Amino acid sequence: MVELNILPRPPISANPTNLAYGRRGLVYDNQVKAETDALYERVRGVISSLEWPAFAPLIAAINRLKKERDAVILAHNYMTAEIFNCVGDFRGDSLGLAREAANVSAKVIVQAGVHFMAETSKILSPDKTVLIPSLEAGCSLAASITGEDVALIKQKHPGIPVVTYVNTTAEVKAQSDICCTSSNAIQVVETIARQWGVDQVILLPDEYLAKNVAAQTKIKILAWGGKCEVHERFTPDDIAEIRASHSGAVILAHPECPPDVVAASDFTGSTGAMSDYVEFHKPKKVVLITECSMSDNVAVANPDVEFIKPCNLCPHMKMITLEAIYDALLNLRHEVVLDPVVSARAKKAVDAMLALPPAPAGIFDPTRPVPANLEII
Ligand code: SF4
Repeated sequence: MVELNILPRPPISANPTNLAYGRRGLVYDNQVKAETDALYERVRGVISSLEWPAFAPLIAAINRLKKERDAVILAHNYMTAEIFNCVGDFRGDSLGLAREAANVSAKVIVQAGVHFMAETSKILSPDKTVLIPSLEAGCSLAASITGEDVALIKQKHPGIPVVTYVNTTAEVKAQSDICCTSSNAIQVVETIARQWGVDQVILLPDEYLAKNVAAQTKIKILAWGGKCEVHERFTPDDIAEIRASHSGAVILAHPECPPDVVAASDFTGSTGAMSDYVEFHKPKKVVLITECSMSDNVAVANPDVEFIKPCNLCPHMKMITLEAIYDALLNLRHEVVLDPVVSARAKKAVDAMLALPPAPAGIFDPTRPVPANLEII
C-alpha cells in the first residue's frame, strides 16, 4: 500500500468573527434558502426536495468559506451531484482538473477527488495550499505500484519510455518520462514513441487501459497488472443484460473497463469524452459504464436524456462529502505536503503531458482486438 503524503493540520483561525458559520449554526433557514435556491434549480432533477434541506446549509457555508479563504474547489466527474454542481468551481476529468490546477490564482485548492489528484494539483501549484478533505480517499490503481517498482522496471527495460497514468502517486510520476490520462493516452503513447524513435512503450499501471490503448496503436505496449476496482467489476454479461432490458439504450464505457466490455459497448472514452458524447448526440437513453455519480452529473446538463445507472460506486471518491469539504476549509486540513525533489521530478512528467497540443479525446474503436504481443511486466 502506498503511503499518503499528507499531514493533518490543527485548526487555524477558527474565529467566528472571520468565519461565516460555526458548525452548530448550520441550519436550513431563510437566509440559506435565499442563498441556495438558484443552485437547487440546477440539481432538482437529481436531488429530491426532501434531501435538499440537509445539503443546503453546508453548501451555503462552503461557498462563503471559499471567499474567506480565497479557495477554489476542483470537482471530479465522480463527485456526488451536490458537490459537483453546487460547490465545485472547476469540474471535469483528471486532465481538465490538472490544467485548471496549473492556472488557478486562488491561494487554496480543495481537491474534491482522490489523493493522487490532490498530489497532481500540488505538483502543478507547489506554492499553494492544497487540501484533500478525506485521508481515506485513495485509489486501487495508485496503490498498485510504487516508485521503486518503476525504478526496477526501468532497469530491466532501458531505452523504453515510461508513460504513467495520472492515477499514480508523486513518487511514481517522478520516475516517469510523461504522464497520460484516459483522455489522451493514445496520443501520449504515439507521441513519446515518435520522439524517442522506438516502437514500444511502457504504460503503467492500469492493465485494462494499457490493453485498450494497445488495440488502437501499432506501438507495442509493456503493461502492469493494476486495476481500477470500480471498472474491473463490469462484465460483458452486464452489457448483454442492459441491452436485453433497455432496448435502444446507447452504452458508453470507460477505457479502465476490461477489453471485452469495451468490445461489447457502443463507444469508449474518458469521462470527458462520454460527457461530450451525450451532449453532442443527445441519445434518448444512455448507460455510462463507469462510476455511478457520473450519470447524475451528466444528467443535470442533459435533462431530456434518460440515464440507466449500472451503479458501481468508488468507495474512495465517496469519502469526499460536503461535511468533509466544510471541515477541510474551516480548519485548513488535510494539507498535501510533497518532497520538493520528488515533486519537481514529477512535475516534468506532468508538464510533458500538458505541453502536448490539445487533441480530441482519444476514441477507442471497439472493433479492434488487443494485440497478442502485449506484455505484462
Ligand atoms: S474510480 Fe477507480 S481509478 Fe478512479 S479513484 Fe476510484 S478506484 Fe481509483
